[in-house]
Amino acid sequence: STREDAVLLRVAMIGTGYVGLVSGACFADAAHCCVVCVDSNAQKIDALKRGEMPIFEPGLADLVRRNVQEGRLSFSTDLAAAVRDAQIVFIAVGTPSRRGDGHADLSYVFRAAEAIGKSLRSPGFTLIVNKSTVPVGTARRVRELVQRNCAPGASFEVVSNPEFLRQGTAVQDFMYPERVVIGMWENRFQRQHECTAFRSAPLHLHERRFVADTEPGFDTRKNAQTLMTQLYTPIARISGAPVLFTNVEEAELVKYAANAFLAMKLEFANEIADLCEVAGADISVVTHAIGLDARIGPDYLQAGPGFGGSCLPKDTRALARIAQELWRPCRLVETVIEGNEARKRRIAQRIALAVVGNSADMNHVYGRCIGVLGLTFKAHTDDTRDSPAVFIVRELVELGAKVRAYDPQANHREVHQILGEDVELVCSAQEAARGADVLAVLTEWPEIRQACDALGPEGLGSLMRHRVIFDARNLWRPEDWLHSGFTYHSIGRPTIY
Ligand code: NAD
Repeated sequence: STREDAVLLRVAMIGTGYVGLVSGACFADAAHCCVVCVDSNAQKIDALKRGEMPIFEPGLADLVRRNVQEGRLSFSTDLAAAVRDAQIVFIAVGTPSRRGDGHADLSYVFRAAEAIGKSLRSPGFTLIVNKSTVPVGTARRVRELVQRNCAPGASFEVVSNPEFLRQGTAVQDFMYPERVVIGMWENRFQRQHECTAFRSAPLHLHERRFVADTEPGFDTRKNAQTLMTQLYTPIARISGAPVLFTNVEEAELVKYAANAFLAMKLEFANEIADLCEVAGADISVVTHAIGLDARIGPDYLQAGPGFGGSCLPKDTRALARIAQELWRPCRLVETVIEGNEARKRRIAQRIALAVVGNSADMNHVYGRCIGVLGLTFKAHTDDTRDSPAVFIVRELVELGAKVRAYDPQANHREVHQILGEDVELVCSAQEAARGADVLAVLTEWPEIRQACDALGPEGLGSLMRHRVIFDARNLWRPEDWLHSGFTYHSIGRPTIY
């Protein structure tokens, strides 16, 4: 109805990738706002307009379809028009690692900021929200860029709102976050001031008062807080998640610190797994037991081939660089990064050793056939960016192995772009196993386990040239392979011969 339309918030989402598309669809759905998702990639926008999803994410296709049908979600390449009509503009473009130095590449963010500045409504107020993961100080530079490019009468504010969703469970994570962090501008010396103007906020917010009502900038900051509160209230209500209002620097750091901590847990589990192998212990028993300690928790303790994906590697690298530049190096994070790189290489070597067996001569890998199950950096996503599986396959190919790989979701074109034509991509676990000297499990897809279980050791063994499995994800228990005729290698557990 028109009365309803009148109160809908109007949001523009700049960047329609994993974060932009999921956030846009979820805001449209939960917060009942009108969202235009913008992307400079016209193919992506065309596909979305045809109703095709550019990424695989459970529950996303239905959510997008419903909100498009109900008129709250649309797609466009026209950034200027979307920004002009919006009350809230999100920046959700990529911030990949800059080649060479590990710094976050902010060129996409800055280009978006300039374009947003040029298109701001004037007169009128627009809230610009940075959702991309960015180094401390970026919001300040975004604010300067917008200021330099906007029309004189335009009024705006920049806030920082890092995103914590995980690929594979992105929709669920967005709708039921564990916390929402919103970084606002603060004049440090004003911290003591209690500003009462925001007291009427509808939620129980863990908020700080940012600007006293006599200060310049009060109106835009109040507008910013009101709009963010309005946008997140439905999600906070449904999920019970706390909304933390912090300063901008804190919000920017929270995201990197959280990812670095998760990476550290994974690397820790991997180091302990290596120790288990020589000590005669089983890593799954050890991590289960330590994870029961509430101070440690069971998550991110799964030993494997090294962490990967589009976030943990690049965000740990970026945090290490930020810390070095601020003369407070984070040694722990630097060690985690080095440990993880070494780990991926070591797992590739262990697979190669499983091929050559007792000869231990890597030259003998040449021409041998390795079946690979899983290429994405984890299950339930189609993403192969910085995937340890892809790294390992490349190492094996460089040793001269013939690799035949299967993944239920990885995009074949993208994999060929990264790995060239040296890798044969097949459409089932059976085909990957056919003629293999070793079968290497590199991603924990349930489909992969199911396919192998359905064949059974006999069926699988009859397809392969040698009965050797290297399970880098501990999909099975070692004892499942006793008396199977297989050599079963896994991570941090005894090998079964
Ligand atoms: P992505 O590469 O999937 O999507 C980014 C999109 O932005 C691309 O489609 C690109 O075409 C578009 N784009 C770039 N410049 C543009 C411009 N000027 N105008 C319009 N569109 C533009 O990236 P992503 O995985 O969604 O990540 C986005 C940000 O969110 C990154 O900073 C990332 O670190 C962070 N993040 C990602 C995740 C995740 O799980 N992927 C989780 C939390 C945070």
